[in-house]
Amino acid sequence: MSEHVLVLISAAPGATLRAADREALGAARAFAEGRGLAVACAVIGHDVQAVATEAAERGADRVLVADAAELVTFNGDRFIPLAVAAIAATEARVVIVPRGPDLLELVPRLAARLDGASVMGVVELRGDAQDVSVVATAFGGAAHAVYRFNAPGPRILALAPAVAEAPERVAGRAVANEPIAPSEVVPRVEVVTPAAPLEGPRLEDARVVVSGGRGLGAADRYSMIVSLAKALGGMPGASRAIVDDAWATPAQQVGLTGKIVVPDIYFAIGISGASQHMAGCSNARCIVAVNTDPQAPIFRYADYGIVADCLEVLPELIRLAGDPGA
Ligand SMILES: Cc1cc2nc3c(=O)[nH]c(=O)nc-3n(C[C@H](O)[C@H](O)[C@H](O)COP(=O)(O)OP(=O)(O)OC[C@H]3O[C@@H](n4cnc5c(N)ncnc54)[C@H](O)[C@@H]3O)c2cc1C
Repeated sequence: MSEHVLVLISAAPGATLRAADREALGAARAFAEGRGLAVACAVIGHDVQAVATEAAERGADRVLVADAAELVTFNGDRFIPLAVAAIAATEARVVIVPRGPDLLELVPRLAARLDGASVMGVVELRGDAQDVSVVATAFGGAAHAVYRFNAPGPRILALAPAVAEAPERVAGRAVANEPIAPSEVVPRVEVVTPAAPLEGPRLEDARVVVSGGRGLGAADRYSMIVSLAKALGGMPGASRAIVDDAWATPAQQVGLTGKIVVPDIYFAIGISGASQHMAGCSNARCIVAVNTDPQAPIFRYADYGIVADCLEVLPELIRLAGDPGA
């Protein structure tokens, strides 16, 4: 039997694979290929068949499923033994945990339980399953560090956003579910009232983000950022400088202490490109910057740069984007 790279998914009831789950499967496949490894996926939750089916259709060679009513909300005390069982069943040395609300609890606990080791923010896996090393982000994405492992147990890895492509979905590609039986666990802590999921579109999921900064010059000009975002079917973001000045809301802040966005296209308009801002957007597929200062740091990151006054460029971009209200 081949060795496995295992992707560990905590799934919400009736959910389908999230972008982060698909990226994790893509990273697992990329690592497995050429190393004689297979990809396994463990899906843990309640009413998770759609996730299990899609995992198989996106190339998982084995799909292990723990599906039980008590797994309807994430609880580390219940989840960890099932994850341990999945790791044992697949003999995985490399375990990838997709981004999600449970990540910060799950990754270190799992590594500690199995005498393994964990690294967060991984952007690259090197070596082979027995001697993997990883490159991961540091200082909020401003730098990279390389890690090697000495722990005897498995390597539990959390990926940085957008480091892998989702594997292509092949409809009808089926793999029989391998059930993992939930063990009898009395959790040390229980969720009494789960947090209500946020409603409406999330900045983190937007395919287009248009962010404004202090270069806008005045609060009322942020409406042009909103108009351009709307015209492009995206969402407006902001630098911390203008959130601090209340030109935009905290929910719109991009960066180290704001949201991390991974859109296909990111507009940085009147934003200098401080490292704390770039920590939230440097993984965008394409960055377009508008700034009057040709030496502004943002141009080091930008795929397209416009050295110009944003107050002249914005109305033109809005017109080109075809905003009916422009
Ligand atoms: C611990 C910590 C955490 C932080 N977290 C974050 C964070 O999460 N997100 C974040 O954004 N920042 C964060 N910051 C702040 C960060 O360091 C910067 O101060 C901030 O990003 C600057 O915002 P800005 O680019 O809008 O403003 P500025 O740095 O003032 O830049 C304005 C830019 O606009 C240009 N400009 C001026 N006029 C025009 C014009 N008419 N047209 C076009 N361009 C023009 C200027 O050339 C300049 O480059 C953090 C800082 C610290 C210390």
